[in-house]
This record gives sequence, C-alpha cells and structure tokens, in this order.
Amino acid sequence: MLQTPSAFVPLMAAQAHADPIAFVFRSGKLLVREDDLTLPDARMGLPLHGLQPEQFHPVGLWQERYCCTTWVDAGLEAQAGYAFVPLRSLFGSLDEPLLGLASRAAQLAEWARTHRYCGHCASPMQLASGERAFKCPACGMIAYPRISPAMMVLIKKGDQILLARHVISPTGRFSALAGFLEAGESIEEAIHREVMEEVGLRVTNLQYFGSQSWPFPHSLMIAFTAEYAGGEITPDASEIAEARWFGPHDVQPEAPPGVSISNLLVNAHWPKAI
Ligand SMILES: [Zn+2]
Repeated sequence: MLQTPSAFVPLMAAQAHADPIAFVFRSGKLLVREDDLTLPDARMGLPLHGLQPEQFHPVGLWQERYCCTTWVDAGLEAQAGYAFVPLRSLFGSLDEPLLGLASRAAQLAEWARTHRYCGHCASPMQLASGERAFKCPACGMIAYPRISPAMMVLIKKGDQILLARHVISPTGRFSALAGFLEAGESIEEAIHREVMEEVGLRVTNLQYFGSQSWPFPHSLMIAFTAEYAGGEITPDASEIAEARWFGPHDVQPEAPPGVSISNLLVNAHWPKAI
C-alpha cells in the first residue's frame, strides 16, 4: 500500500544537505532520469534544470537523507536524459518507500504552488515558523496543506460484495464505492449519503478498514465495510456506469497494480467458495 516508510521524520525547516532526495514536480509529473527512473541529484540533475536549494520545501528525513520538494512552471522542459513522468505511472517501478515519500512531496509541492498569494487579500504569502503553513503578513490568514477526506466502502450482502465501475474512473475497472465528504459531514454520514446517491442502497454496521493518503492531488481515502440493509441497486448514471453483486463463483475483476487501499479492501473481503 502507498504509505510513508517507517522511520520517516517530517521536517518543517529546510536543511543543507549535500545529497538530498529531491522531488521536482511539473503539473503532477515527477522529474526523473530516463534510464533508471532515479531522482535528479544535487550535483548534476538539479543545476542542469536551473534549480537552486532555496526553491525547495522541506519534506523530512529518511535514512539520514534530507527529503525536499518543489514545483516548476509548465513551460520548463526536462533536459537530455531526464523526463517528467506522471506519478501514477511510477507505481510498480519506483521503490515503495520512495513512492510513499513522493506522495507526501507531491502534496506539499502542490500546496506551495497554489498558495503563493493570500486567498483573502491577495498579498504574497510567507512561510510560517514552527508549523507547516503559509501565513499572510497583511491579514494573518493561515493556509495549511490541503487534505481532502474521501470515504470508500465495500458493501457486503451474505456471501456477495458490491462493486461498481465509475463513469470517470481512470482505469475503468470495478472497485468499491467512493466519494468525497461534504463540508460539515462525518465520515459515517458521507457513507450513508454516497451509497444512497450512487446505488440507491441502505447500509448498516459500518466497520473501519484502514486509510491511505492518495496524492491525486491531495485525498485521504478512509475505507470501511458495511452490511447491506435494504433497497434495489439503482446506479446514478452520472457517476456509476455499472454496479452489481459479486459472489464466490464470479471471476474477480482485474485490479490495478497493488499500491491502493481499494485493492486491499476488495482482496481482504473477496467471497470465497466453500
Ligand atoms: Zn491576506
């Protein structure tokens, strides 16, 4: 699963380090060397792209190396031997600890990119001290990294589970139901609302399964199981292309490479034939 590697320590203050783990994002794509998909190094790769240490934001320490991140304008081209590649396409090819760090780095770079000016008075923002935040020097508004909670729920009915194909799914595959929380809503309220909206069912007995940060661009997926409590499957055509029960004699739909909590949730509850 996509997660921060153990022994990682977040850092709020920049550090000087001769050999940092440097993440450079351009429109959600990560700068890597083309031949081995490693990150650009401080001696060659970063200067080659005109990047200076002071442009980077601290991410943390991992295995005694300083991790930092930045973003560049959409017009910056990768130099010969380097490429900007979608973070999602690196699943399965980048080491999982590095992917976990990249997930954090991507969200911090996106926060820095989109909070250069105060959303209230439009003054240039400054980094706050002592916490990870931008603070407006004119009006005092504080902007923390944005995290958008979303619920995921696998509905169980006897020896069957409900899976759906979402209209805008990037993979077009069957998965558990998922949706973002509304402001002011509890995670449980969001589950009941989304399940009713998306497939017209009532559920009960919500059980927490786990959570996963998901950097597209800053979601926190919070996964549950639930028991079917009533209703007929009625897909909301604007969101759900198809939804149906899968039982022990169905073929398990193909899953994307195994870094998502969606896979874990389905695999952990896939109906077993007795
Ligand atoms: Zn302001």
